Amino acid sequence: MDSAHVEQDLVNVLFTEKQIQDRIGELARDIEADYVGKDLLMVGILRGAVMVMADMARSFSRHVEMDWMAVSSYGSGTKSSGVVRILKDLDTDISGRHVVIVDEIIDTGLTLSWLTSNLGSRSPASVEICTLLRKPEALQMPVEVKYVGWDIPNEFVVGYGLDYREKYRNLRDIGTLAPHVYT
Ligand code: IMP
Ligand code: MG
Repeated sequence: MDSAHVEQDLVNVLFTEKQIQDRIGELARDIEADYVGKDLLMVGILRGAVMVMADMARSFSRHVEMDWMAVSSYGSGTKSSGVVRILKDLDTDISGRHVVIVDEIIDTGLTLSWLTSNLGSRSPASVEICTLLRKPEALQMPVEVKYVGWDIPNEFVVGYGLDYREKYRNLRDIGTLAPHVYT
């Protein structure tokens, strides 16, 4: 789906498909350079990170292992509840492994701050975070993020894995959702 298909629902297009692909390529180069000679396990956070993971993994020129976790921190609306629950845990034992958590957006930071300490307690060799987007103004918990695509304003965005009530995930671009859609 392109932004033209949901034009009325968007205030603007923040990042086009092309911009996203280029930035993900750059992040992949950075990660590759940092993990030369090390095994690499990327942990994607379902369901939002599916697109980032799929494109990033394919833009590597090395092997990478992928696993997935599902956590719930949100109800069905646009605000974080702050309560994190594991809905699906990793299938992989990460002790001694180099882990990069892949997420599509950091908002309050509650989810990733909780997740980083959860994974950190499983004796990995290292844990870093890669997120496509981050909202610095919304941050409530300090999270150390090594790889960030872009910092964005504190507005609700959709597309490229980001949803509003499970819609817009399959939008190729990323856009700001028009308030009339959720009010
Ligand atoms: P946090 O715990 O507040 O950082 O929330 C992280 C999760 O909330 C993300 O992984 C998204 O699933 C969801 N989220 C936060 N902001 C947005 C947004 O602007 N659009 C869509 N989902 C969002
Ligand atoms: Mg998410």
